[in-house]
Amino acid sequence: MSYREIDVDLSEDQKAMRDMVRKFGAEVMRPAGIELDKLHDPADVVSDRSVYWEVLKKYRELGLHRTDIPKGLGGLQEDMDPMSRVLMGEEMGYADAGLTISLGVSNMPFAMAALFPDPLMQDLARKYCEDREGKMIGCWAITEPDHGGDWSLGGDDPKCAPSVRAVLKGDEYIVNGEKSSWVSNGTIATHAVVHVCLDPSKGMVGTGLSIMPLDLPGISRGKPLDKMGQRPLNQGAIIFEDARIPKEYMVIPDPAIMEGLGMGEQILAGANGGMAVVFAGLAKAAFDEAFRYSKERIQGGVPIFEHQNIKLKLFKLFTMVEAARAATRRMALYNSVTQPPSAPHAVACKCLSTETATYVASEAIQIFGGYGLTREYPVEKMFRDARAAMIEDGVNETLSLAAAEFL
Ligand SMILES: Cc1cc2nc3c(=O)[nH]c(=O)nc-3n(C[C@H](O)[C@H](O)[C@H](O)COP(=O)(O)OP(=O)(O)OC[C@H]3O[C@@H](n4cnc5c(N)ncnc54)[C@H](O)[C@@H]3O)c2cc1C
Repeated sequence: MSYREIDVDLSEDQKAMRDMVRKFGAEVMRPAGIELDKLHDPADVVSDRSVYWEVLKKYRELGLHRTDIPKGLGGLQEDMDPMSRVLMGEEMGYADAGLTISLGVSNMPFAMAALFPDPLMQDLARKYCEDREGKMIGCWAITEPDHGGDWSLGGDDPKCAPSVRAVLKGDEYIVNGEKSSWVSNGTIATHAVVHVCLDPSKGMVGTGLSIMPLDLPGISRGKPLDKMGQRPLNQGAIIFEDARIPKEYMVIPDPAIMEGLGMGEQILAGANGGMAVVFAGLAKAAFDEAFRYSKERIQGGVPIFEHQNIKLKLFKLFTMVEAARAATRRMALYNSVTQPPSAPHAVACKCLSTETATYVASEAIQIFGGYGLTREYPVEKMFRDARAAMIEDGVNETLSLAAAEFL
């Protein structure tokens, strides 16, 4: 049994993209992820001496931050066919999930800015494409200390409205409230997509969207979050205290526009579609580790692969990984060329991939025996990274409840 690729019709360009990202993953991301994971203090992950910055710089040098931005603004969007995008996500997830999320979410404010014709937004996207050093870093600030799953499930009950509130005064919005310590890149981001409450009488759907720089007066950050999995991913709160945001940064200034654009469905499909691809990659990484080890570890005088219990376990894991990869690729290829994209397919694949990755990594530990629990081998880290993903971007259960509405 070996791992045969059955998507046999990849073009030379797609193979070149896959191989380039695979090399970046193996040589830069995987070793850096292991090093960052071992740091005791999450502040050290983003200290001046941290290898994190080398990863970020290399990613930028390779131009991978430009893949979601049109060529007219300096991006590479038109060169990225849907399958190349999938291969890039899988390979990065294979290398290190936490770093993949950090690098991916960094693009978000700038890729979104490119969608708005306003010169300020177009300029932001253009400058991001030019940034090869990692000076501009993005984040997506939606979760609040008192509102997590509420963002997935929406609702118009005024008793349940977001806490980060924006009030227009003259040419500025005055923003108050806190985005939670779970915001990925929260303590290092220079720019953010921020979901703000504009009309509390409409509950969770009374929101607008801002793409803003985070160096404006009245904006401060929390401490880097200490957590179990995806430790190379910096996370932290963003706090608004009478922050004054020029109104040009409120790119969607009306809840009715959010609804008209179908933002709920777009976000469910976009964010979860990406998560599905990344964690299908991690699931395969955990399988590969277990498979390789099973051929090397001798017990009972033979490689443990020769024992029927291990062989059956591995074949089950192989089946699950292939199912997650196949469903995810199918969903991603469909959603990348279809408007509106299918939120149920994206959420189904997010749940399938993250649950598969968690199961496979857990069973990989079992196959490694005691060694699987040590930091000498990568499977315990993969398990922790995968486990976090069942909550990341929305708890799988609340996402499923939300996506079921679009069936
Ligand atoms: C690794 C990681 C990265 C993240 N990155 C970001 C980021 O970049 N930006 C950002 O803004 N956030 C981010 N998050 C936050 C994430 O989106 C939230 O943690 C998630 O939405 C869940 O919110 P919560 O933690 O407040 O859980 P809660 O909403 O409090 O949920 C707790 C439990 O209650 C259940 N539950 C909640 N509401 C309901 C309901 N109405 N009906 C039934 N059951 C319910 C849930 O299923 C869950 O089991 C990240 C989280 C992780 C783990």
